[in-house]
Amino acid sequence: MIRQTKIVATLGPATDTSQALAGIVRSGVDVVRLNLSHGDHDEHAARAERLREAARQSGRVVGLLCDLQGPKIRIEKFANGPVQLNNGDSFFLDPQLDGESGTSEGVGTAYEGLADDVAPGDILLLADGLIRLRVERVEGTRVHTTVEMGGELGDRKGINRQGGGLSVRALTDKDREDIHLASRLDCDYMAISFPKDADDVREARELLHQAGGEAGIVAKIERREAVDNLASIMQAADAVMIARGDLAVEIGDADLPGVQKRIMRLAREFECVVITATQMMQSMVDSPMPTRAEVLDVANAVLDGTDGVMLSEETAMGRYPSETVDAMARVCIGAESYADEVRSEDSWREEPHYARVDETIAKTAITAANRLGVRAIAAMTESGSTVMWMSRIGTDIPIYALSEQEGTRTRVTLYRGVHPVDFDPKGKDSNAIDDAVIRELRRTGAADPGDLVLITKGDIAGAHGGTNAMKIIPVPGD
Ligand code: PEP
Repeated sequence: MIRQTKIVATLGPATDTSQALAGIVRSGVDVVRLNLSHGDHDEHAARAERLREAARQSGRVVGLLCDLQGPKIRIEKFANGPVQLNNGDSFFLDPQLDGESGTSEGVGTAYEGLADDVAPGDILLLADGLIRLRVERVEGTRVHTTVEMGGELGDRKGINRQGGGLSVRALTDKDREDIHLASRLDCDYMAISFPKDADDVREARELLHQAGGEAGIVAKIERREAVDNLASIMQAADAVMIARGDLAVEIGDADLPGVQKRIMRLAREFECVVITATQMMQSMVDSPMPTRAEVLDVANAVLDGTDGVMLSEETAMGRYPSETVDAMARVCIGAESYADEVRSEDSWREEPHYARVDETIAKTAITAANRLGVRAIAAMTESGSTVMWMSRIGTDIPIYALSEQEGTRTRVTLYRGVHPVDFDPKGKDSNAIDDAVIRELRRTGAADPGDLVLITKGDIAGAHGGTNAMKIIPVPGD
């Protein structure tokens, strides 16, 4: 059975050897993520180069996702290493304090606007929620708090306000520089961290275009405001990532499962690609097998219709990167085989004026394929739009994206159930295209004599948006 759900894996020190990188590529990684929160441009460029070489050598198509750091609000540093905060202690945060001179009484922060964004009674969560502070009063730039849940606090830990509401802008100066890197690396996707609304998504796309990049934009849902603006964000972005690490800190872990399910449902409605991220197989950082709870987490995301499941620390820093990808692939396939609800009718939008000929063919093709029980769908695609529409409708029939455009083949790696194939239709008439498609599907074992295959294509081979026909043909015998 061919896996439908895509695996996104973060690169890091654990995958910096060619052996480890080749291992995760062989195990089935579909998209790799460069986390721009860590490392410099040269390091990321070298990782991208190594990845492309590993993909070439293994004959697999792997997409590249650059993930911008965004405005993660952090405390600054302590003068003498981590401090111990006890329940009931007073502790202040102040951007005016020197960045290197924190003590157990208070610490600096680079976020100048903190005092304007908080009020007495607010809860601030530090270090991903491990430390909890209640705001008592604000004096000038200084925010005085009482420690409600203490612990050890180290340098540069993150600050979140419970319930959201920190007004910091999504794209920092560093992000603006990193957008040029994303363009230079010709990545397939660029993720923006902490967007609040669709304007943040549009601004990132505009800056990327100005830098010469054409990557799809992934909006990370990790702020309360983004949860409140899901529909408009999904319309502006190409994909969303359920960034459960920061999201859980902002909205509280009890609301996370419900919000995850809501994002998945809305993504189907708005035809947006979804990546489910963070701690999916966290125990595999140190262990060669996942916990039962992790297996269930991955499987539930698959059954809820996610396009991709993401690994962070597991492949960036863990001891078992390729074993983790193997385990994730195994769990995805297992869950997919139980998905009684996989086949669905299409999600026609209410407004008929949105419908396009190519979109209509793509969606009708899946309905027809589901009803007829075809073995494989082969879509001639220039930009990848046809297969994106196809993959928004539930089917367990593999969709092969046939394109001579390398950028299209790497971009479709994120779409659930879509498999890229290098195929150049130019110079072939319609019948010759059908013959070549059938030969290709037979060569890879994707179809056998007697199977039905469904082909979508346009009158003019190689034209954008030209898909206007669907053909269902039996695979002839030898
Ligand atoms: C997250 O917070 O879950 C996430 C994916 O973002 P990052 O790893 O960049 O913090």
